[in-house]
Amino acid sequence: MTRPLITATRDGLACERGEFVIDPWREVETALISHAHADHARAGSQRYIAPHSSVPLLQRRLGASAVIEGVHYGEQRSFGSTTVSFHPAGHVLGSAQIRVECEGDVWLFTGDFKRAADPSCEPFESVSCDTLISEATFGLPIYRWPPGHVVAEQILAWWDENRAAGRPSVLFCYALGKAQRVLAELAALTDRTAFLHGAVAPLVDIYRDAGVVMLPTEKVDLRAKRRYDGELVVAPPGASGSTWMRRFAGASTGFCSGWMRVRGNRRRRGYDRGFVLSDHADWAELLATIEDASPTRVLLTHGRTDVLVRYLRERGFDAAALETSYTDGDGSVDHEAEV
Ligand SMILES: [Zn+2]
Ligand SMILES: [Zn+2]
Repeated sequence: MTRPLITATRDGLACERGEFVIDPWREVETALISHAHADHARAGSQRYIAPHSSVPLLQRRLGASAVIEGVHYGEQRSFGSTTVSFHPAGHVLGSAQIRVECEGDVWLFTGDFKRAADPSCEPFESVSCDTLISEATFGLPIYRWPPGHVVAEQILAWWDENRAAGRPSVLFCYALGKAQRVLAELAALTDRTAFLHGAVAPLVDIYRDAGVVMLPTEKVDLRAKRRYDGELVVAPPGASGSTWMRRFAGASTGFCSGWMRVRGNRRRRGYDRGFVLSDHADWAELLATIEDASPTRVLLTHGRTDVLVRYLRERGFDAAALETSYTDGDGSVDHEAEV
């Protein structure tokens, strides 16, 4: 057997022959970044390479002094004895799958991805490979997502209902990706203004600068005496149960996440409404991606890998779980928070 082109090391997914590490979880010389979520983009490396549209998001995450080089999707770059290209992953703005080729051996790291339509980011592109390293956050057949535009209609109906009752609607969404997707989906249905938590607003600005069409937005003004009855307020999950919420007394609360697919999660987490909206592939999307890539070997990262590994082995794939550490250093920000 030939030496694996990419291996999980203490630094991250390392490619020795290319002298780089993909989404490193420690400080390295050259970091190839799949997307700007905290568990994939960590500060401290000497230089970062990522798609152009993710650069403003990364610069915000990594700090103004971070050296970040943008590349075009599909552009081929040489690293050591390898050729590397980034391909849209459909997960958030600027997200990428990373293709690495060396002496005819092609590896593809999906990063976090989804195939479902999303007006706020570049659509997923199928790439074929010999070895596929795929995320499997929702690697169980129970995970099936309704289309985003259908969920947007449910959100609007809930907002209308609360508006009629004179209540604010506070919708909790992951601040990077999910919030902008919801605002972009809603823009097809209404032109009412949405109000944003301070952690969401700057990211919405970056998306708007990239040309993504979303609802008109205003930042929640904590000093003004204004009330938000009947309004839609978008906030990160961390604001739920915080003192920030006092301003929205009597509000109906909603949460957008793939985890809302599991009965009981909404009540356990204390939300009035759960909306099933994920920026990750569901079971069918995982299978379709593996089929399209037609690899001989599949390595799975993130979440529920056991069932999918067994399923793939029964179908003749060389499949295994790959141990990774997509959690924040202190464990406070983990991959599961953003789904
Ligand atoms: Zn992500
Ligand atoms: Zn992730």
